[in-house]
Amino acid sequence: MTVSVGGVPVGSAHPIVVQSMTNTDTAAAAATAAQVRALHEAGSELVRVTVNTDDAARAVPAIVAEVDVPVIGDFHYNGHLLLTKHPECARALAKYRINPGNVGTKRRDDNFRTIIQVAINEGKPVRIGVNWGSLDQQLLTDMMDANAKLAEPRDARDVTMDAMVESAMRSAELAEESGLPHHHIILSAKVSGVQDLVAVYRMLAARSDYPLHLGLTEAGMGTKGVVASTAGLSILLQEGIGDTIRVSLTPRPGGDRTEEVQVAQQVLQSLGLRSFTPQVTACPGCGRTTSTFFQQMAEEIQQYLRDQRPAWQARYPGSEELRVAVMGCIVNGPGESKHADIGISLPGTAEEPRAPVYVDGALKLTLKGDTIVADFLRILDDYVERRFGSANGGSQGHVAVGVHQADVAFPKNHT
Ligand code: SF4
Repeated sequence: MTVSVGGVPVGSAHPIVVQSMTNTDTAAAAATAAQVRALHEAGSELVRVTVNTDDAARAVPAIVAEVDVPVIGDFHYNGHLLLTKHPECARALAKYRINPGNVGTKRRDDNFRTIIQVAINEGKPVRIGVNWGSLDQQLLTDMMDANAKLAEPRDARDVTMDAMVESAMRSAELAEESGLPHHHIILSAKVSGVQDLVAVYRMLAARSDYPLHLGLTEAGMGTKGVVASTAGLSILLQEGIGDTIRVSLTPRPGGDRTEEVQVAQQVLQSLGLRSFTPQVTACPGCGRTTSTFFQQMAEEIQQYLRDQRPAWQARYPGSEELRVAVMGCIVNGPGESKHADIGISLPGTAEEPRAPVYVDGALKLTLKGDTIVADFLRILDDYVERRFGSANGGSQGHVAVGVHQADVAFPKNHT
């Protein structure tokens, strides 16, 4: 089933959508719009903002007017109040995220129905997003009590996973009973452990055809967050489970919020599910590469490709599938370079100071000199223009280069 979120199709056979979330105060409209734009430019196809106060709700229309990507509102506790009190906010948002565990205790179903009614009136989809940190406690208690009465009670962890699925399914049922169309519902059930994530989403996928939003909640910082998210998402995506993903990284103080978008894209591209940016295959280096030149070059090329992405996307369709190899010596360098579209094999320590460049599997030229990176990037630009440029109809012909070839002295520190 497909759900359209502000014109972005989510579900069925549509490409898996990358989402992200801002960490600015939504009431600060200019700062939030700037971060939404940055996330969108990094590749986020949907961006969520928290809507937690009257000021935040008032700021939403101005934020949406400033950006070119569907904006989703994240509501907890007072969503029923904010969405009814601020109809311009309800209208501007592309989707509402509701956490069934956070819609109140006494008038829980009434509050939930109020949000659903706004979604119906505005023609908006909702994501029913269960989170184990805020799981409906009454439901969990009831299910735990029922489990305790069994002759052979199940593990509490299994009952908790069941309760998450149950919470999402019951809420979806309530939403549909209230009049929300089936194709306006997306589900998620986030946990912070990889095995729990896999277990709960397998159950969710088996029980419904709603599109699923995947993500490890509170994934963490740095390498731990990246690896845990990748592990959890990859298992599920490989099984065909998941229609939209978010990588919930905790940024370092002053860190770049767009990192979560890069990681999400890289997960999808590494699995061969989508292509976003040309990929660099770089060897890890070893005792044969005793200088940092090789690492710097690999980094510079990767950064260059990242920087070119927005312009290349429009100008060179298909260039996101380009494969570039940057290798440290002749052991695997020529072989890996031949498998890439374009590759360079740098000289290892004690090797002859020459850097052969391979294009479409064939040796094209050998670079020397201290402008080797600039020369290689010119060859790369030329290749992209010739292969993906519309004027050239995507030809893969001869690569014309005006670079320093083997006639330029190769500085000793390159080896
Ligand atoms: S390609 Fe050469 S430098 Fe790179 S890891 Fe292999 S042996 Fe080491």
